[in-house]
Amino acid sequence: MSNEPIIRPTRAEIDLAAIAANVQLAAKLVGAAQVMAVVKADAYGHGAVPVAQAALSAGATWLGVAIPEEGVILREAGFTGPILVLGPCPSDQTDLPAAYGLEQCVSDASQIEPLNAAGRARAKTVAAHLKIDTGMGRVGVPPPEAALIAEKIGHTPSLRLSGIMTHLTEAEAVDTAFTVEQLTRFEVATKAVREASGTRPLRHAANSAGLLYHPAAHLDLVRPGIMLYGCSPRGSQEQRFQLRPALRFRTAVSQVKTVPAGTPLSYGRTYVTTRRTVVATLPVGYADGVWRSLSNIGEVLIQGRRAPILGRVCMDMTLVDVTTLENVQPGDEAVLIGRQGDAEITADEIAAQLGTISYEVLCRIGPRVPRIYHQHGGARELCGGKLP
Ligand SMILES: *Cc1c(COP(=O)(O)O)cnc(C)c1O
Repeated sequence: MSNEPIIRPTRAEIDLAAIAANVQLAAKLVGAAQVMAVVKADAYGHGAVPVAQAALSAGATWLGVAIPEEGVILREAGFTGPILVLGPCPSDQTDLPAAYGLEQCVSDASQIEPLNAAGRARAKTVAAHLKIDTGMGRVGVPPPEAALIAEKIGHTPSLRLSGIMTHLTEAEAVDTAFTVEQLTRFEVATKAVREASGTRPLRHAANSAGLLYHPAAHLDLVRPGIMLYGCSPRGSQEQRFQLRPALRFRTAVSQVKTVPAGTPLSYGRTYVTTRRTVVATLPVGYADGVWRSLSNIGEVLIQGRRAPILGRVCMDMTLVDVTTLENVQPGDEAVLIGRQGDAEITADEIAAQLGTISYEVLCRIGPRVPRIYHQHGGARELCGGKLP
């Protein structure tokens, strides 16, 4: 018997060659700037460790995470290169950057001393990236205060000013005026920081949209996330860049039955058949990341064709109409996101149906769904984020 675990047919297949190609595209577009692969939220649902590995092999030199724990997972998996925590460090976790060698965003002067104390206690220097709020209105110091706070970091014995950063609020917008304004504010603040601190910390501002649409935002380092997973920050309108979607969310039909006209289907009887209908049951539901709001409006691919979702999506099952398909059988593949034959359902298409963005569709694919990794044509499995 094989040692391979026997896993459910509902899976997310991740194409690491696509991640690598998207990283290479990012690196090509930015030239001399370094690429930080943003792998927060378990790499937007794709699995942080294998994605980080693929991104670094393809030329990224930094990893970006949202919270310290995500950085700890990467360190424990053996990554030794720079990892930046993009969000503020919670006050009860200030030991983690020093303990794990994580570079830490500092977005308020009050965060300096706790990080310094943790660094001192471990005899380590914590690398800080000063975050400036140039228009996002979320975290970060006001531009006029940046120089003073940078100086303060410079005089703090267990801190080092490693970077100065900002975040763009609408770099994907067709109207570029506000992004240009943000970049101007950032440049002014950066100059003041350089003068006041006498150092040249890494300057970084660009998310995927900044990277793709604003060459002036490239600076020393870029922080792409969504584009590495093959989705455009502009959604499905994007035609200019050949991004390769990395994720395919699939399952297999568990049961097929034929019901007469007038048959109610699923919870609440929100769908009643209007003709003799062949219904396929899929063993996947909203607990796996098939949004309940796709009830009666979503579609899946079977036999390379679209099969509409009938009735409410359940926690663990979804019904689809296969009446016009040929002889669908239990075990036949059904694709929720990705390609099948010549057909494709993108995360962007689903996002548009749900009134959200691809990011949310991808990171909602649940922990119950095994992630299977393909590289160089072969497949290897990593369930639940564990290393092989
Ligand atoms: C999430 C995040 C990114 C990546 O954004 P994308 O739009 O996915 O490219 C970059 N920088 C910061 C600070 C972030 O939080």
